[in-house]
Parts: sequence; structure tokens; C-alpha cells
Amino acid sequence: MGKRKFKLGRSYKNFERRRQIAGNFKIGRPPKGQRNKRHHEPVAQSLLEELCKGVVLPENWSIKFDSTVNHADVCKIGHQNTITSQPAVVTTCLSIYKDLSWRLHVHGKVVNIEDCTALADTPVSLSTTSTVELLSLIDRLNVCVGNPDPRFTELCELQGGKIKAADGTTSSFTDDFFSISLDGEEYQSTVRSAKCSILTNNIRCDACKNYRATLRALCSRQLRTTEEMISKRTEASSHTTYQNLKAEQSKKRMSNLKKELDHQRNKVNEL
Ligand SMILES: [Zn+2]
Repeated sequence: MGKRKFKLGRSYKNFERRRQIAGNFKIGRPPKGQRNKRHHEPVAQSLLEELCKGVVLPENWSIKFDSTVNHADVCKIGHQNTITSQPAVVTTCLSIYKDLSWRLHVHGKVVNIEDCTALADTPVSLSTTSTVELLSLIDRLNVCVGNPDPRFTELCELQGGKIKAADGTTSSFTDDFFSISLDGEEYQSTVRSAKCSILTNNIRCDACKNYRATLRALCSRQLRTTEEMISKRTEASSHTTYQNLKAEQSKKRMSNLKKELDHQRNKVNEL
């Protein structure tokens, strides 16, 4: 231990000597107390690291920077529904990459920036300032409510959670990732257009607003089909068993059977 102390002491004296000599010859001498500077030289920071260190986060936001992959996630913590006693989760995640490009997820869904007019002015490549502005903007925007009307969600569920367009592509889907509050009601799922921008200045994004007309038309068609099917079930010639008919449908079938029987009797009498 004593030997080590001596060595450290001599090293320090040598450092001081070099510092004084450098001072005498008016050449750049290391400032006092920084003799080990070469061991603490700052590592060149990546642009992303600089950005992360400069960002002042709004309330409820936190940042996770992974230097190994040069990727940062700026996350907002919140609740998935109005029952705030349930554990908080990450509701929004802004991912920033080493080239300062970014991607946004809200309630587990990626926000297609090209479809999101509310984010149209945000640059493709972020800076410290534009990141702070973007976080503030996200906080001000609403999450699109989609179309949570039970007749629409039931229709979508009947089709396996996805409504397909004529060309086979998905035109809308059921989203039950978080609950929707609308006009004092709380809904556990909603139907979103495939082009839903997720974030909007209004209650509902333009894509989901326009898609309501399609949903109404699909519901009307389904209602007509159902009525036709029920009507066929109550026909005298139907093979549907009475167990599968509701009380009023059974009455209707009996009535139709009676009419058919009378009709056949009349025919026989005419012979
Ligand atoms: Zn929408």
C-alpha cells in the first residue's frame, strides 16, 4: 500500500513539474487538476445522443436511448381507459433513429405520417427543437375515436374483425386495444378505416369520418339479407326446425303452413 502511495505521489509531482515547465516556456500547459484528461476525453457524440440530451420532455414523457444500436424511444405513460386504478402503460412511443428519422406508435398502432395531416408540418429528420415541438403537438392532438357504434363493431366482428374491399384489401378493422370515450359513453372497441390517421385535430379523422357511409351501407345490406333469411325460414316449405326459430317466427311458420294447407284443400275440392 505504501509503495503504491509513493508511486502515485511521484506521478503527481512529475505532472506538476511538466505543467510548470510548460508554463515557463509559454506553451499550452494542461490546466491544474486535469492531469488525467487523456483518460476522460469526451467520446464523439452521435447526433441522436446530442438530440436526446438536449430535449426537455413534457410531463409524463420519458426517454430511453440505446447507444449500442443508436436508437431512442421517447415514450408517454398513461392509461388505456378511464379506469385509472389499472396499471399505466406506454400509450405513445416516438422512435428516433441515428439518421434522426422517426416513427410514431399510438396505442400499439403505427401512425402513417403521409395519412396524418395533423403531423404534416413535422420534418422528416428531427432536431432537438422539432422533437420538443412534436411531443407538444402529440399531447395536444386527439386519438381518433373511429366508429364505435355497436352495429358497426358487430358487423366487423361478424366478418372476423376485418372488412375487405372488393379487391380483397382490408378497408377497415376492429380496434379493441383501448377504450373509447364518446358523448359520455365508453366503448370497448371501434372500427377504424385502414387509412385512419390515429391522431387528429378533431374527434374523428377524415378517413374514419368518410368510411361511416360505407359502414351504414354494409349494415343496411346485412339487415336486408337477415330479413330475407328470416322470411325464408318462416315459409311453409322451409326445412328449418322449430328449435331454431324464435316464438314469433314459429307462429309465422304455422300461419304460412295453415295457408298452404287451405290452398291445397281448395285445390283438392276443385278436382
Ligand atoms: Zn380514424
